[in-house]
Amino acid sequence: MYKKSIKAFQESSKVIPGGVNSPVRAFKSVGCDPVFFERGKGSKLYDIDGNKYIDCVSSWGPLIFGHSDKETVSAINFCSEKGTTYGAPTLIETEIAEKIVQMVPSIESVRMVNSGTEATMSAIRLARGYTKKELIIKFAGNYHGHGDSFLIKAGSGALTLGLPDSPGVTKNTARDTLIATYNDKNSVEKVLKENIDNVAAIIVEPIAGNMGLVTPDNRFLKGLRELSLEYECLLIFDEVMTGFRVAQGGAQELYNVKPDITTLGKVIGGGLPVGAYGGSKKIMDYLAPQGPVYQAGTLSGNPLAMNAGLSVLKRLNHETFDILEKVSLKIHKGFLRNIEETNTKAIINRVGSMMTLFFTDSDNVCNFEDALSCDTDKYSNYFKSMLDMGVYLPPSQYECCFFSTSLTNDDIDKIIHSNKIALNNLK
Ligand SMILES: *Cc1c(COP(=O)(O)O)cnc(C)c1O
Repeated sequence: MYKKSIKAFQESSKVIPGGVNSPVRAFKSVGCDPVFFERGKGSKLYDIDGNKYIDCVSSWGPLIFGHSDKETVSAINFCSEKGTTYGAPTLIETEIAEKIVQMVPSIESVRMVNSGTEATMSAIRLARGYTKKELIIKFAGNYHGHGDSFLIKAGSGALTLGLPDSPGVTKNTARDTLIATYNDKNSVEKVLKENIDNVAAIIVEPIAGNMGLVTPDNRFLKGLRELSLEYECLLIFDEVMTGFRVAQGGAQELYNVKPDITTLGKVIGGGLPVGAYGGSKKIMDYLAPQGPVYQAGTLSGNPLAMNAGLSVLKRLNHETFDILEKVSLKIHKGFLRNIEETNTKAIINRVGSMMTLFFTDSDNVCNFEDALSCDTDKYSNYFKSMLDMGVYLPPSQYECCFFSTSLTNDDIDKIIHSNKIALNNLK
């Protein structure tokens, strides 16, 4: 069934570290060889062996409208004929910036970069330059890309592979990152008190998606806003995953809390490599060439990626999010019914089209410690069973499903039906 993929992985492993260009792709945590894909169309993915899958990952979030979405493809084609990059200003950059400013409540001015990692790295440099303080607070299990400062108790692939603290990060860098507990305002206040006048920023995933999906408690985000004002540090919402995914204006719109700086990625590029960070004009003007904090990029804001991104942002309206909610709720409800009928010990966390099924005895997963207590072996078996039935899930307990508007009713029925069989197989 996976013959060509197995062979392809042997070949890629000879010339690519671990055979992949991003760790989670190797399927290590689910104990099988990765599938190599050839093509995607709408809700479907096709691998090199000719197997067909309903995609519940959407390239880790970007593909709101599914694979090779017509309008995105035509935006890319239109632009590629005029040259893909000039390394000089273009009108489309202002157009997408205006669109982002209009959509995201706290952003008045925005700088484009090429990945989420670049956005978060730049955002903390800006926060440090602006506040003239050096320490940052992050939450255990949150992931902010692979910048040195963030690979401390990190989520996502680092967590999946049991490497939340990476070698190669110097002690001095690690020392500048302080760790707090997600959904626990007091843990943040304690760290702030112990480091009074030295904290430049609190960075948080406003909805955590990199230890599986963990929703913020009522008042947690508001609590962070209050603390950052009281202790005079900036609040950074890392909305690389949630921006344009949970609402037009991201989690900050959903929970009605305005951060000082927002980082964006994933959906913003419509499937091309794009990141961004933005905030008030006063803070953003601290960046070069206007201000002293340096940050640059040869391909930043290139017309190819901007056209692809804008083609998606333009179409995000209430209807899009209604469809995403309807699709996701149907899957959520179906899974809950299956969990009950098969007597499986599992819970589901979901916000809009982001969702995780956790195999756990407890009735809530609300922080890193809870996430760590989940049964990852069970998840592996579940994942493999779903894969064999043609449903592609994230290859880790500690990642979310991302549903797209391209899922049809038949797809949804098949996902729910396969879930029931897979849960039954676990016994
Ligand atoms: C994916 C992600 C990043 C990193 O983005 P890349 O484009 O992979 O560098 C940062 N923060 C969050 C919350 C993410 O989900």
